[in-house]
Amino acid sequence: QKRNPNENEFHQAVKEIFDSLVPVFAKHPKYMESGILERISEPERLITFRVPWVDDNGKVHVNRGFRVQFNSAIGPYKGGLRFHPSVNASIIKFLGFEQIFKNSLTGQPIGGGKGGSDFDPKGKSDNEIMRFTQSFMTELCKYIGPDADVPAGDIGVGAREVGYMFGQYKRIRGGYEAGVLTGKGLGYGGSLGRTEATGYGTVYFVQEMLKDAGSSFEGSTVVVSGSGNVSTYAIEKAQSLGAKVVACSDSGGYVYDPNGINLATVKQIKEVERKRISEYVNVHPHAEYHEGCTGIWSIPCDIALPCATQNEINEESAKLLVANGVKAVGEGANMPSTLEAIEVFLTNSVLFGPAKAANAGGVAVSALEMAQNSMRLAWTFEEVDAKLHDIMVNIYKSAVNAANEYGYPGNLVVGANIAGFLKVADAMMAQGVI
Ligand code: NDP
Repeated sequence: QKRNPNENEFHQAVKEIFDSLVPVFAKHPKYMESGILERISEPERLITFRVPWVDDNGKVHVNRGFRVQFNSAIGPYKGGLRFHPSVNASIIKFLGFEQIFKNSLTGQPIGGGKGGSDFDPKGKSDNEIMRFTQSFMTELCKYIGPDADVPAGDIGVGAREVGYMFGQYKRIRGGYEAGVLTGKGLGYGGSLGRTEATGYGTVYFVQEMLKDAGSSFEGSTVVVSGSGNVSTYAIEKAQSLGAKVVACSDSGGYVYDPNGINLATVKQIKEVERKRISEYVNVHPHAEYHEGCTGIWSIPCDIALPCATQNEINEESAKLLVANGVKAVGEGANMPSTLEAIEVFLTNSVLFGPAKAANAGGVAVSALEMAQNSMRLAWTFEEVDAKLHDIMVNIYKSAVNAANEYGYPGNLVVGANIAGFLKVADAMMAQGVI
């Protein structure tokens, strides 16, 4: 608190990990003796910079850009860029910190990083988005590279933004470094399956939790928050496994469709027209639209997949979900449940898949995109999807095994934190006091 005042989200993320590591330190005092906690919670580097740009009316705006290069013990920094007005150092540091352990869990050689800006893409023209992203990359390009730091998308940053940033990077640096960004378009180095990866991966992870409990998606009722990249493909995969997804949302409100959400309509509204989810009821008048996004958790469901943003499920929402009989929660977004909400799920025997394990599919396929770029090869969708599925099954097993080994059977929060931590901590120890 003293060292990082007012960084509430960062404190929350660090507390969750440190609490989980108590049994590790009891068993292996060497980590405590080598100051690993102090080192791992301090970013290797936090870069902030000015992003000036001119809107369509000739007015000058200044936003703030961030990149946190948190940990490179096991590979180049890897993590997305978020464009949202709420972005500040605390948000970027919490995301970067989580990313260290998530990336480690994937089993791939990638370190932890994250970045973004407090720029609000809502309501901006294509040209404004381009001018902003070009200005952002003009500064960011000094710090990234295919073997140093590889950004990708996150909230507010999709294929369009990654495309503009890739173009600007290439223009400034010369040469064609395909591996400098992931989430690229398919025509210039992107990977098939990357768009779907986080949403599909979250569902694959929950599928493993359900399987171990003798259950499945088939015939279940599912609520998915958000209607962006992660949500869209979580809905798609859950539906393909026989679930009925009855609700989704955006930051304005949520849609309840008792017949099951029509995903083609959601894609048309959000991906093509870039409009609000409230438009859904104009196409499907039998559905209901409610203002305010957190009300979505009052809808009874078997499986909840929070895929919008941090702290969207608080203690009260968690209690409501439990009272309505929720069996499993899989976090598609980063840190969508507060610490109190997680406690409610764990003490009520809800199967709980924490973000850093359940949503690791996106970064895992980003690492596959880097591998394809290095080899100058492109795998088929089926190859990438099969690898994603294997990775998610392995992450699940690692979390289960670590939870069992350290005396917390069934607690995947503890299991994922420990499994992710050990690999990074061992690499840091082997590399000296760095
Ligand atoms: P998108 O920008 O594509 O979609 C975000 C969705 O969440 C939108 O529906 C948005 O609504 C909603 N949302 C954003 N902020 C808020 C808010 N403050 N309150 C309520 N709703 C909000 O982002 P992604 O789908 O890429 O990311 C969603 C989450 O998943 C984030 O936590 C991200 O960090 C995480 N994640 C993403 C990965 C990826 O591969 N994309 C990988 C791993 C994690 P609106 O349109 O109104 O803003």
